[in-house]
Amino acid sequence: MSHPHPELSAPPALPKGGLRVVPLGGLGEVGRNMTVFEYDGRLLIVDCGVLFPEENHPGVDLILPDFDYIRDRLDQVEALVLTHGHEDHIGAVPYLLREREDIPLVGSNLTLALLGSKLREHRLRNTVKAIVAEGERISFGPFDLEFVAVNHSIPDALAVAIRTDAGMVLHTGDFKMDQLPLDGRITDLRAFARLGEEGVDLFLTDSTNAEVPGFTTTEKDIAPVLDGVFRTSKQRIIVACFASHVHRVQQVMDAAAAHGRKVAYVGRSMVRNMGIARDMGYLTVPPDLLVDAKALADMPPEKVVLISTGSQGEPMSALSRIAQRSHHFVHLEEGDTVVLASSLIPGNENAVYRVINGLARWGAHVVHKGNALVHVSGHASAGELLYCYNIVKPRNVLPVHGEIRHMLANAALARATGVPADRVVIAEDGVVVDLVDGKASVTGKVDCGYVFVDGSSVGDITESDLKDRRILGDEGFISVIVVVDSQTGRVVSGPEIHARGFAEDDATFASITGPIVEAINRAVTEGTTDTYQLQQVVRRVVGRWVSGTHRRRPMIVPVVLEA
Ligand SMILES: [Zn+2]
Ligand SMILES: [Zn+2]
Repeated sequence: MSHPHPELSAPPALPKGGLRVVPLGGLGEVGRNMTVFEYDGRLLIVDCGVLFPEENHPGVDLILPDFDYIRDRLDQVEALVLTHGHEDHIGAVPYLLREREDIPLVGSNLTLALLGSKLREHRLRNTVKAIVAEGERISFGPFDLEFVAVNHSIPDALAVAIRTDAGMVLHTGDFKMDQLPLDGRITDLRAFARLGEEGVDLFLTDSTNAEVPGFTTTEKDIAPVLDGVFRTSKQRIIVACFASHVHRVQQVMDAAAAHGRKVAYVGRSMVRNMGIARDMGYLTVPPDLLVDAKALADMPPEKVVLISTGSQGEPMSALSRIAQRSHHFVHLEEGDTVVLASSLIPGNENAVYRVINGLARWGAHVVHKGNALVHVSGHASAGELLYCYNIVKPRNVLPVHGEIRHMLANAALARATGVPADRVVIAEDGVVVDLVDGKASVTGKVDCGYVFVDGSSVGDITESDLKDRRILGDEGFISVIVVVDSQTGRVVSGPEIHARGFAEDDATFASITGPIVEAINRAVTEGTTDTYQLQQVVRRVVGRWVSGTHRRRPMIVPVVLEA
């Protein structure tokens, strides 16, 4: 197994007839999936998603893949293939299209419909779309694409086989092998076997659940649990789940219909996505079941179900507002039941438990994956991955979609089925993998950082800005203003000290004003005249004092002015 090494440098030129694979996101994290394939000077992109910020990214709305590697080569992009409609696969597409609007977008009917509403929000109207379905083949430049049905936690997901003269790549996208899915559309293992028979030179496989032994539980197993919740609930039921999980919503609707309750959606993305899914026939809504959320207020609580967004504790979401009793028309009552029919994405734990506590405090009965089977994963567990390796018999394997621990676990599964260790390649974002003469290997690394979206700015906020925000958030802020004589350099006014998120009492700083003046005057006597250097003197004096006497490290902003 080849490990990415920190000393990797830019890759050499790609040998003629070779295929280059450059992951720009999603390898080493769960989110912002994006992989660039290069053959004969032409590029094919698979997925272009977002990563949601964690608590160490204060103020950040979204994190995008870094487009730098392809920014000067956008005219060489033949197509952007979207494996399915989840945000971590399509969320960054509008940002890429801002740089070249007519990149052909290739995906299934539902995937492109979900993307379409996003593109309209970003006012991108001149886009080029190619709707594809399982079993279809279509070529873009040197890339011959074939699509294979896969089962996942959103309908209409596709794996893609990419044929070039360098060999065949099979990219699973996100998938699992639920044998009894609601829509009967199973992962097409017969196609996997056929492609394996032809020869899969490089197999990119979903690593998310590679550490989980056995097989992922079937979606249908949730139904009896939901039925039990509906049977025992005497009041209103609120179910929160992902706004793209059509089959989960279907199961809630079926339970509601069976128990004589009406259903309303709460949350913009839920209303929008389920409208699309229903219009396109992916969601079956029994007649007269659906009502407007505002109309529910006038109905008996035991006759209603709300299907809401916010299952990850997102602070602005419908569920968070309900938990804080600040939602403008849904008012939680004691005895209501709230079901979080969703996963708990790592990093969101605190936010989700905050919501659960908020709901419980008002007397709600909260059902979640910690106390009932109300969620199953959308990703293949270790047993399913082993099946795939045995069926496909790939020549080389590149685990994708996961943190490093997930990818390493996936790599171990590949090796266990007999893929030679030197052909199981571990690469994180930016690490270049070349498939040359049928062998995949790491050949270099390209720059590949986080790109932060903050309000309307994209890429302006840097890691150092975030460090400042964390210091401000954790430690507060002290400003020190001193006026010095422009001729003599002696202090003529100040220091004036202001603090936020620190001790607000001015007396706190009385003991440090003298040392600041002494330090400036001493520095001036020793020949320092530059105000920047004097500011550094102030910063050092205040920094030493605050850490020595208060055990704190606030942001210190010294300002030395000449008068
Ligand atoms: Zn997905
Ligand atoms: Zn994903």
